[in-house]
Amino acid sequence: MPPDTATGPAGASRVAIELIDICKAFGIAGGETSYAVDRMNLSIRAGEFFTFLGPSGCGKTTTLRMIAGFEVPTSGRLLLDGREVTGVPAHRRNVNTVFQSYALFPHLNVGENVGFGLSVKGVAKDEIRQRVRAALESVHMAHAIDRKPSALSGGQQQRIALARALINRPSVLLLDEPFGALDLKLRRGMQMEVKEMQRRLGITFIFVTHDQEEALTMSDRIAVMNNGVVQQVADPVEIYERPANRFTAGFIGDMNLIQARVIGRSGPQLAVEAAGGRLELASDHDLQPGDACTLAIRPEALHFVDGDADGAARFSGSLCEAVYIGTDTVYGLALADGNRLQARVRNGGARPAPQSGEPGTLACAPSAIRLLTQ
Ligand code: ATP
Repeated sequence: MPPDTATGPAGASRVAIELIDICKAFGIAGGETSYAVDRMNLSIRAGEFFTFLGPSGCGKTTTLRMIAGFEVPTSGRLLLDGREVTGVPAHRRNVNTVFQSYALFPHLNVGENVGFGLSVKGVAKDEIRQRVRAALESVHMAHAIDRKPSALSGGQQQRIALARALINRPSVLLLDEPFGALDLKLRRGMQMEVKEMQRRLGITFIFVTHDQEEALTMSDRIAVMNNGVVQQVADPVEIYERPANRFTAGFIGDMNLIQARVIGRSGPQLAVEAAGGRLELASDHDLQPGDACTLAIRPEALHFVDGDADGAARFSGSLCEAVYIGTDTVYGLALADGNRLQARVRNGGARPAPQSGEPGTLACAPSAIRLLTQ
């Protein structure tokens, strides 16, 4: 993947963190070096909410730990605010980390927990008091300054852990699955709060999660990772609507992935054979007749049609499943070639869906089909 330039629409944002050809190998498996992170090139803008997203073991935490200074890259360079920090230890980087386990001292009250690091450094008592209050206010917890952690909910304890990290005035805050221990409702509430806090404070947040919904909700940009390799770096809309490859398409949300073969080409217009039918699609890929590719279609882009649907891509088969999920029903359509399409259709629509076992045709706009080559 080419280096990411981190120039957004404004084009002028300062780069806060640069990873240049970063590799991290932990050992050799079966005679071959296995890389937890493989040739990563990334630029993260100052003030950005940037998320590493991917399945368990894809290298997210290792990347975060290299930025924090807890791990040294096997090769490559790491720059913070334009300064090379590749071999600089964690305590000499202006970076703080919030982990999934909040690890608050149970015998200290909230104020003492948040101010602990400053008192160890010998900062004057008055200044500590002032900064503790400001840090607690930024997470809306000033009222709990005298309470013990045991008297707080999980979400409140995580907010105290955030205040403890923010009190050091880091230019970058690293968050490793910080909501992993919270129940779903609390997790959703904290996501909104932390996003709002990040906007207000203007600090660069680097977030790690395997929860795609969390990543899509909170991030300015997302790096999707698999097997130590960055698959795509883009904003949430681009990641969801224009996945760059099969991995991202299959990992983010529900997606129908159908094998296809190019059978003709006329300028940007491709004719492909897929699921036993012929489709005309516009594509800027350099594909030629005979080449294999994959069609990616979101279930919500599909709807049932009766006969011909003007200019639409159509797939015929027999209905094999219908699952009511409140606002929508999710249908499964078994196609003649063995493929199966999933469609998510809003309930109460004008056209009734076929009954199970009946023939049916699903259609979508050709522009809703994403053609993938890798
Ligand atoms: P999770 O979501 O489960 O935390 P992750 O994406 O954060 O996963 P990492 O923890 O970065 O993944 O691990 C990436 C790979 O590196 C894994 O295969 C893991 O087993 C390996 N790994 C991580 N730390 C070490 C270590 N200290 N020694 C050996 N292998 C390690």
